[in-house]
Amino acid sequence: MCNACLNGNKLKSKTTFTVEYKECIIVIKNVPCLECEICGEVTFTDEVSEKLELLVNTAKKLMQDISVIDYCKAA
Ligand SMILES: [Zn+2]
Repeated sequence: MCNACLNGNKLKSKTTFTVEYKECIIVIKNVPCLECEICGEVTFTDEVSEKLELLVNTAKKLMQDISVIDYCKAA
């Protein structure tokens, strides 16, 4: 059940995760998530959160103005 609206069911979906870091923007596409059918609240599993953190850390090292990463293609 959804923690935000306490009503909706969480459905499997995909989302785009964006982080701003200093002057940089990191965009990660095709991230598997659970999305509430009522309020649209998006949550990630622990496994996905950990991988996102790794991808963000890698992108930070590159320090490009905009990094776009495809979650499904990233190892
Ligand atoms: Zn909800």
